[in-house]
Amino acid sequence: MIVTLKGVGKSFGDSRPVLSGIDLDVKEGEFVSLIGPSGCGKSTLLRLVAGILNPTSGQIVFDTGDTLSKDFLSFVFQEPTLLPWLTASKNVELPLKIQGADPEERMNRSMYLLEKVGLGEFANSYPRQLSGGMKMRVSIARALSVEPQLLLLDEPFGALDEMTRDALNEELLRIRSINSWTALFVTHSVSEAVFLSSRVLVMAARPGRIADVLDVPLPYPRTRRTRESIEFGELVREVTKSLHSVKADTMEKHSTSQTLEQI
Ligand code: ADP
Ligand code: MG
Repeated sequence: MIVTLKGVGKSFGDSRPVLSGIDLDVKEGEFVSLIGPSGCGKSTLLRLVAGILNPTSGQIVFDTGDTLSKDFLSFVFQEPTLLPWLTASKNVELPLKIQGADPEERMNRSMYLLEKVGLGEFANSYPRQLSGGMKMRVSIARALSVEPQLLLLDEPFGALDEMTRDALNEELLRIRSINSWTALFVTHSVSEAVFLSSRVLVMAARPGRIADVLDVPLPYPRTRRTRESIEFGELVREVTKSLHSVKADTMEKHSTSQTLEQI
């Protein structure tokens, strides 16, 4: 198990818990997606796994033991967050520079990764010269520069148009087939979750919790053909149904408690 969450809960101050009773095992090589209504705590859950936040209750255990080595995991945010004064290549090198890798090794690794994300020719371009999709590819290359075992991605393609997103989904799986890291991926797109994942976790809100787990038994490599298959359509319908029932359930509970409070 690459990471295990046992009864993890998170509250901010005295307000009601954002997350409660999260139990989750992520095995090496899995691609796990988290999907759920906005505000249900997906980003908070990812930040807990990244160690940016500490859980209020429960435990998060990595296969490396309690202490995280600095290159065990990497984070890809929704915004590409590139440094505007550095070229694509220098942006990708940055985490390695911080780690103290030697300049030649840094440059080789950066060039290799930019080639892999299809941006070999743009190594010397600045972020302002790149499209949104290209910036996100640089951001993914940067996250992979430290050769993480676990990659955490928080709606990385949420701001992109659907065609770019589909293309980057395929590219992400292709890059992953080269050096197979484990992925924990947040999205609000059902088709993206099904296309990428081996397992989809549907979250409910107030408090944020895992309400449903759906396996995606579609074989890898997945391609455009996968999206056109009957099985893919069925899985998308299944996850959508689960998501709707979670949302309806949350809203019902919410309106009941409001009514009771009003009485
Ligand atoms: P999601 O990513 O699913 O949209 P988030 O994890 O960003 O949800 O947020 C879940 C809830 O936690 C929201 O109600 C948000 O306001 C609250 N929250 C997140 N971070 C903080 C924080 N640092 N302080 C207080 N409340 C927070
Ligand atoms: Mg979020």
